[in-house]
Amino acid sequence: MIIYKSMRKRIVAGNWKMNKTLKEGVDLANEINSKTEHLKDHSVKIILGTPFIHLAEVAKTVNPAYVKIAAQNCAAWSHGAYTGEVSAEMIRLAGAEYVILGHSERRKYFNEDGELLNTKVKLALENMLKPIFCCGEVLEERKENKHFEVVKTQLEEGVFNLPEEDFKEIVIAYEPVWAIGTGETATSEQAQEMHHFIRQEIAKKYGQSIADDTSILYGGSCKPSNAKELFSNEDVDGGLIGGASLNADDFLGIITAFQD
Ligand code: PEP
Repeated sequence: MIIYKSMRKRIVAGNWKMNKTLKEGVDLANEINSKTEHLKDHSVKIILGTPFIHLAEVAKTVNPAYVKIAAQNCAAWSHGAYTGEVSAEMIRLAGAEYVILGHSERRKYFNEDGELLNTKVKLALENMLKPIFCCGEVLEERKENKHFEVVKTQLEEGVFNLPEEDFKEIVIAYEPVWAIGTGETATSEQAQEMHHFIRQEIAKKYGQSIADDTSILYGGSCKPSNAKELFSNEDVDGGLIGGASLNADDFLGIITAFQD
């Protein structure tokens, strides 16, 4: 069967992490917005993953027709006495359409496990936020050839208990932890191999048609110089970009890697 990759949404999402003051963030969003305005067909969905306090201002700054906003986390409760937390509803009403969940930094520094992430995924969906669900192995796991098993478990725990209608809203980001912020990118073959595996697992769970329509992004030291090769793979539908999303020209270089 021929699978037409172009039917899936192509996405380049930035993850600013804990970078940029509010003013710097708004300036960056402005620059990205104006430098992407000329991309006539806007066939690539652009997402900016900002710190919580930037969401509302950045949402006002960009053209929502082609630049979407994401939070980088949300609370595991809907509302109430959870000091310091930000709910999915607050995020949605601030103007975000997406939320990054399960990033390896959240798993590592904040001990977020599969069960907690599944709760967050469900709360996000209840509040009409689309999760960008991250998965990926650490270096030891890859060396021990456990990477497929690790990613499968993360998907099973985080998103594979969702009903079909909900799963359709999910974007998957495969981010090998050893490639995040290290300058060491997965090879094109490694990325394709894992993305293909993920799509097969989705097909087993939800059927081939849903698997074919699910966008699977690659994350890990993606930059203008390697984006084109990574994105040319059949099962790579774009990128989740950390460091290179902090500079408008680098980010634009990755977005246009799809268009040449
Ligand atoms: C990330 O943190 O999601 C990421 C991919 O970071 P970087 O691009 O800097 O490796």
